[in-house]
Amino acid sequence: MIKSNFHTHTSYCDGQSTAEEMVKEAIKENFTALGFSGHSYTSFDESYAMSLANEQKYKDEIANLKGKYKSKIMIFCGLELDFFSDYEALGYDYIIGSVHYVKKDGVVVPVDLSPESLKDNVNNLWGGDWFNFTEDYYNLVSLLQAKTKADIYGHIDLVLKFNEANRFFDQTDKRYVNQVLEAVDSLLEADKIFEVNTGAMANGLRTIPYPEKWILKYINSKGGKVMLSSDCHNAQKLAYGFDSAAEILKDCGFKEVYTLNQSGFEPVKL
Ligand SMILES: [Zn+2]
Ligand SMILES: [Zn+2]
Repeated sequence: MIKSNFHTHTSYCDGQSTAEEMVKEAIKENFTALGFSGHSYTSFDESYAMSLANEQKYKDEIANLKGKYKSKIMIFCGLELDFFSDYEALGYDYIIGSVHYVKKDGVVVPVDLSPESLKDNVNNLWGGDWFNFTEDYYNLVSLLQAKTKADIYGHIDLVLKFNEANRFFDQTDKRYVNQVLEAVDSLLEADKIFEVNTGAMANGLRTIPYPEKWILKYINSKGGKVMLSSDCHNAQKLAYGFDSAAEILKDCGFKEVYTLNQSGFEPVKL
């Protein structure tokens, strides 16, 4: 059982628990490490992210918690940097790079807000062609390293959030599969870490983690690295779905997952 998580949101952004509540729960669950990853500021959507002023408070509080709990748990201060955040993210222990929006004809479209709004946007901006929309999404994913310099790639197929049982498009379609493969190939070049994210399982939207199993198998076949993360927004769900995600990873051929400690990212046995 993996006893760490590095994708954690707090009340500084759209999380429901305070940073200290997260730390206390992690200690209670015998975690060895906890990493915070507040949402970076995006000027066009302030509904879920940290304001720039809050980002400084967030950094200060995590620094305090690091000291206060250092005999009990390793604490890290990271950032979930959105593709469209246009400022330099300095002073963090690590960066998770994520695509949450696609821009089309001057409109910023959130990928993960609601199935209704996404469907409307695909109809209005992509003429109802879901594969044109996913192509634009994966073009951004393929540029994640270049744009964010991320250590970890967040939920790379977030575009499937509302697509269980192929609700909107056939995710086995060659057009879709090729878009994914191109993006993954591009990211594999940098030898960073793909996260296996159980966040949408925790809120009942999906029954499996991101990314899909076939993608994980592909990443494994190319020698890529993975890490388990719960994209936690509530302290009660800190390790939600980790057991089943670990089984999926073993099934895909992975023998180890990466975690962060004082000397950097290192593999631990699954
Ligand atoms: Zn995210
Ligand atoms: Zn997140």
